[in-house]
Amino acid sequence: MGIVVQKFGGSSVADLEKLEQVSNHIIYEYNKGNKVVVVVSAQGKTTNKLISEAEEISSDTNLRELDSLISVGEQITASKLSMLLNKLGYKAISLTGWQIPIITTNEHGNAKIKNINSDKILSLLDENYIVIVAGFQGIDETGEITTLGRGGSDTTAVALASVLDSEKCEIYTDVDGVYSSDPRIVKDVRKINEISYDEMLELSSMGAKVLHNRCVEIGKKYNTPIIVKSTFEEQSQGTRVDSSSIESHIISGIAKDDNIARITLIGLENVLGKTYQVFKLLSDNNINVDIIVQSFGETVSKDVSFTVKNSDLDKTMKILKENCEIVNAKEILSNKDFSKISIIGVGITNTPGVASKMFGALYDNKINMHIISTSEIKISVLVNSDEADLALNAIHKAFFGDK
Ligand code: ADP
Ligand code: ASP
Ligand code: MG
Repeated sequence: MGIVVQKFGGSSVADLEKLEQVSNHIIYEYNKGNKVVVVVSAQGKTTNKLISEAEEISSDTNLRELDSLISVGEQITASKLSMLLNKLGYKAISLTGWQIPIITTNEHGNAKIKNINSDKILSLLDENYIVIVAGFQGIDETGEITTLGRGGSDTTAVALASVLDSEKCEIYTDVDGVYSSDPRIVKDVRKINEISYDEMLELSSMGAKVLHNRCVEIGKKYNTPIIVKSTFEEQSQGTRVDSSSIESHIISGIAKDDNIARITLIGLENVLGKTYQVFKLLSDNNINVDIIVQSFGETVSKDVSFTVKNSDLDKTMKILKENCEIVNAKEILSNKDFSKISIIGVGITNTPGVASKMFGALYDNKINMHIISTSEIKISVLVNSDEADLALNAIHKAFFGDK
């Protein structure tokens, strides 16, 4: 018997009835003689609601205050679940990120876990408590409340499983595992029984929000297998994410990431160091840039396109325009509301025809690609967001066919 870590996401803890279903999973493991640590998300859409309430007050929200507001959601679930388990006759106790403590970096809204002190949890487990941890939250070295980025409760769970030396981390959610694409958007998706950390990391990083990408990184680093399964389906076998995945996929999955903006610098001076200066300017201002494409640059000028989040577009344009001594482009164009569709698979580079199959599926559906970017194990294209679901379905059908 060992330590079991179970994490329940927002839709799994949305109301009292669902919390009761969650309790059954916890009690089942506890009654088998395991020590049980549970990580919970905020109930239902609580985090979204808190963020929009903050935006009603100011469009330029103070990130420190936002973290202390949105971390409340997880805290509410943890104490409610603990109360429920106590009512059912089990010894349970809730802990916040700072009671443990989970020490993070100080990047509000996107903090990274630096260290977890497991002493308190271990001594509570020794006293036979079921320990319920509020996910998504931590505290930095100066005592400030931080959050780990949207979907970050997964990361709390895998990090805890890793420091507690648990043999695996179970992530309970509203789907029965990881599929070849988002089952809520794509028809005829295929269930993936086993997937490697590397492939899962790409899928999550490219927008498959079923797992927070950082939890996969931590799982890989500490070799903690992650099992994704359904809270509500009785016989859910789920998906196992680990290093010894034996299934081999040319294409493991197709992911979509929304709310992307594209900026193009036309006629940027073609001299050594110019592109570097532009991107240094953006990184000094904490702008996260994703895809970057530079034209051939045969002449005195070149064109550079790149993408940022929709929400960073105005800030980025302001910085570019205010620094025209660095960004001496003839014209700066911007558009928002694109989606990035990515196919991911370790076999992509060794299999001819993958790109043409992907592009053909888009062409057949009259969907234009605005940027293409490739790496060893993925191909991503930018399409208009209103065509993104159609694109996802078309590409999925091209690679996986009908069921
Ligand atoms: P939770 O609240 O449990 O953390 P999330 O909403 O964060 O759940 O993640 C689960 C959702 O991820 C699913 O409902 C599904 O719509 C979405 N999803 C996206 N891509 C995939 C995929 N490849 N496989 C499974 N689910 C996916
Ligand atoms: N409640 C947070 C969110 O909605 C964290 C999580 O659910 O994992 O992003
Ligand atoms: Mg999630």
